[in-house]
Amino acid sequence: MTVYAVKNVASSAFLVTDGRRAMIVDTGVAGRAPAMLKQIADAGLRPADVGLILLTHHHADHSGSALELREATGAPIAIHRDDADQLRRGGRVDLQPTSLMPRLMKVMLAKAEIPAIEPDIVLGDEEDLSGHGGIGRSFVTPGHTSGSVCVLLADNTILAGDALSGGMLRARMARKPMFATDLDAAARSMRAIANHAPTTVYVGHGGNLTAPSVAQLKTC
Ligand SMILES: [Zn+2]
Ligand SMILES: [Zn+2]
Repeated sequence: MTVYAVKNVASSAFLVTDGRRAMIVDTGVAGRAPAMLKQIADAGLRPADVGLILLTHHHADHSGSALELREATGAPIAIHRDDADQLRRGGRVDLQPTSLMPRLMKVMLAKAEIPAIEPDIVLGDEEDLSGHGGIGRSFVTPGHTSGSVCVLLADNTILAGDALSGGMLRARMARKPMFATDLDAAARSMRAIANHAPTTVYVGHGGNLTAPSVAQLKTC
C-alpha cells in the first residue's frame, strides 16, 4: 500500500494505491485537480484507476477540487451522512478555533467556499470502502465537523483528515484539531484514533504524525 501526499498551499490531499486500484482522500482547495492528476500519472496509474474520491469532511480545503476530480476520473464522491447536507448546500461555514493560531488562520480559511456537491455515496459510521470502489475502512470521528471520518488501511496507517492536526512549529507532533464544532467529541475521536495504535497518521495540515505523539492522545 502506498500513500502519496499532494501538498496544497494550506492542506494536503492524498492518493492511496495498492498498485492496481487507487483512491483519492480529500482534494484540496479549488484548482488543485491538476496536481492530483499529475500524482496519479507519476504513480504509474490512469485517472480511470481511481475507484473512489473520499472526503474526510465537507470543508472547502478538502472538497474544493472534488467536482473536477470526479469529472476527470469518473469516480464517485463519498462523504459521511452527517457532513452530506453541508456539502450539498456548499458555501461558507463558521469555523470555531480551538486556540490562538487557528484564530488567525480562520481569516484566511473563511474565504474559501465549499462547492455545492451532490455526493454519490453517503457513508455510515463504519464502512468497508472496498464495497464502494475504495481501499480500507472508514470510521466516523466527529468533533472537527459532525461527520468527519478517518480511513484505516490494512497496514494500520490512518488518514485522519482534520480530526487531528500537526503542530504549528512541530508539524509531526499530534495536536487537537485546529477547529472543532464539538470539543468533547473531538477528544473522544482523538482517543479512538490513538487506540488503533496506528503506525503512521496522515493529516490535512502538517504531519505525517509520529506514532508516539499519537499514542499520547490516549490520555487526552
Ligand atoms: Zn477541516
Ligand atoms: Zn482542513
